[in-house]
Amino acid sequence: MAQQRTIKGTAVAPGLALGAAHIVRATPNVVPTWTVPGEEIERESARLQEAVDLATDELRRRQRLVAAQSGEKDAEIFSFHRHLLNDPTTLKKLQASIRDQRVNAEACVQQLIERFKRTLSDLEGDNVRAYAADFSDPWRLVLDLLMRHEHDTIASGSGKVVLAAAELTPQVATYLERDRILAIVTETGGRFSHGAVLARSFGIPCVIGLPNLIARLEQGMRVCVDGDRGLLQLRPEQDDVDQFLQRLARRQARHKALALHAALPSETPDGQRLLVMANIESVRDLDTFDVTHTDGVGLLRTEFLYMERNQFPSEDEQYRLYCQVLRRMEGRPMALRTLDIGNDKQLPYFKIPKESNPALGWRGLRISLQWPDLLRVQLRAALRASAQGQLRILLPMVSSVEEVQEVHRIFDDVRRQLQEQGYEVAPQIPVGAMLEVPSSVLVLEQLLKEVDFVSVGTNDLVQYLLAADRDNAWVAKLYDPTHPAVLWALGHIARCARAAGKPSSVCGEMAGDYATALMLLGMGYDAVSVAPNLLNEIKYAVRRTPGTEAVEIAREAQAETTGEGVRRVLQQVRERLHARQVDHNLQEAALNENGLEIDDSSKKRE
Ligand code: PEP
Ligand code: MG
Repeated sequence: MAQQRTIKGTAVAPGLALGAAHIVRATPNVVPTWTVPGEEIERESARLQEAVDLATDELRRRQRLVAAQSGEKDAEIFSFHRHLLNDPTTLKKLQASIRDQRVNAEACVQQLIERFKRTLSDLEGDNVRAYAADFSDPWRLVLDLLMRHEHDTIASGSGKVVLAAAELTPQVATYLERDRILAIVTETGGRFSHGAVLARSFGIPCVIGLPNLIARLEQGMRVCVDGDRGLLQLRPEQDDVDQFLQRLARRQARHKALALHAALPSETPDGQRLLVMANIESVRDLDTFDVTHTDGVGLLRTEFLYMERNQFPSEDEQYRLYCQVLRRMEGRPMALRTLDIGNDKQLPYFKIPKESNPALGWRGLRISLQWPDLLRVQLRAALRASAQGQLRILLPMVSSVEEVQEVHRIFDDVRRQLQEQGYEVAPQIPVGAMLEVPSSVLVLEQLLKEVDFVSVGTNDLVQYLLAADRDNAWVAKLYDPTHPAVLWALGHIARCARAAGKPSSVCGEMAGDYATALMLLGMGYDAVSVAPNLLNEIKYAVRRTPGTEAVEIAREAQAETTGEGVRRVLQQVRERLHARQVDHNLQEAALNENGLEIDDSSKKRE
């Protein structure tokens, strides 16, 4: 790739893509800020004017409607709003902000609203404040229109695009239908943020940490995205495109070759099983892989079902969804994680008060226990669906034994109530804890007496163990799943679970790397649960590695005293496996695509 047109970032979801970029200027609920290059200032001002004109038309429409329904007097407010919008001084000020600060129209309108808010809070008297609130109202409409317009335009099309955004958020990952997103590239975001989790789960190649991305792109510019190596190439030449297409073809050949092994059990040549399960976020995810090639769903992140809506789903709606997933699993287990909102996973209709440290705040099980009605409705729906398959309940963000005891009380009560009402409920529904909070690992021996299984959520456990935010690019180097402290915790959990005779699994993103999955098998884990597009790769690695070798990998990795040492051990595992591959398609692609390239991205974090 020609150097000057290639930007290096961090790979967060593998895969290659070639296509036209679509810049996501705005995502719902988030007012984005981006730099507007000098030559685009005029276009940005015109965009603002267009939104003001649209808002003016909309206000006129509302005025007519209200006048017809309840009279001219009530409709006057809209005429006042139109005057405010078209006040030349305010417009001039906004245009000057775009020009002088070189930021987008949304950011300038937001600043204006903030200014109104500040002035407003200084005023005395409720009536005066209410009157002042009217000043910002029409500008909120402009902001809404600025943010919605772009989305509506692209959403009504049908072409596939590479989405480019300032930040990788769950909203960006779900901005368009999945089939229309070729890849995602962003300026910021965390490798283990929920946006990244979604991109991996959807199988969308993704690169983050691309400096000045938005300023360097143009709407519709052709780009190549390399989600294996974390590269973005702008306006590729024909030679680059040809090379890229060759790599793509090799990659596809590898996937085809891996698929040939996919129906076989995930078992080592000496007969050790590592169950390979899928992480899913919706019923739609089940269309992206063959469930008969998995050992079940190890993690259904139910909050995404809640996020796609405008209000809490009713018990019946949840019941129908859970029934669908259970039926589609054809008797394989499905671990339904109870609502895990909070931090970066917000519901538009459930406002969590602003927290200065949301990762340590009101989230996951804490919300469910404080608002037990939410949990009760979800459990009722899940338990009613339990007759359709092998349901398991998984509790997020458990930090103490008491929390699990409290859930058991609610669970038993819900079960009793349902049975009294004549519903059929499966006799055995295992309840498990996610191990994500260090305190749950420290009291694990006690906790294991209260649960039927445990699943390690390393995405959160790593951030809490290492005090490094999973979403914060500035501490991305410190957020290291190969840190010896993380390996110590993982080893401890596997030993405790074995001793207690309770199954253990890892459902955080790190388990999606096949060398790490082998290490986990060697530590004594029974299962991993990963993004669906990684299932075959892991299965294939398990089928080619004796269990005794996995134990050796775990021993070597745990003996290392630095993250770098652990990464070296895992890299050697990859190289050994590649050398062992006999299938030409697998070998060639593996050498070119996987081995060194995975290492590349981990080196970048050092
Ligand atoms: C985790 O924390 O590892 C996990 C699987 O949960 P989530 O990524 O949804 O927080
Ligand atoms: Mg988590």
